[in-house]
Amino acid sequence: MNFPFDDAPNTVAITCCHIMNDNMPILHISHDSDDGMWQFLCGTPHDTSEGRIVSLHQIYMHDPTVAQLADMPCGYSADRQDITTAWRIRKSQRKT
Ligand SMILES: [Zn+2]
Repeated sequence: MNFPFDDAPNTVAITCCHIMNDNMPILHISHDSDDGMWQFLCGTPHDTSEGRIVSLHQIYMHDPTVAQLADMPCGYSADRQDITTAWRIRKSQRKT
């Protein structure tokens, strides 16, 4: 299998019920600086109960375009307006 991420396919990632259950597009991706955790979110505000734990492989199968961000380093996040626009990558704000 040609897996685009450096992380293993079974690496734990965070997404939300809107993406997994309601098929909303992934519009926000972050790669956390503190723990290296990937988050794939729909871009709307979330309640903690709406979070879903998946593997990187599941997300990649769900939306293969996330491969475009596979080499985004820790401490960066990316947003797009909709699935037809390009990702805009920026350094994440430090939350200390
Ligand atoms: Zn969501």
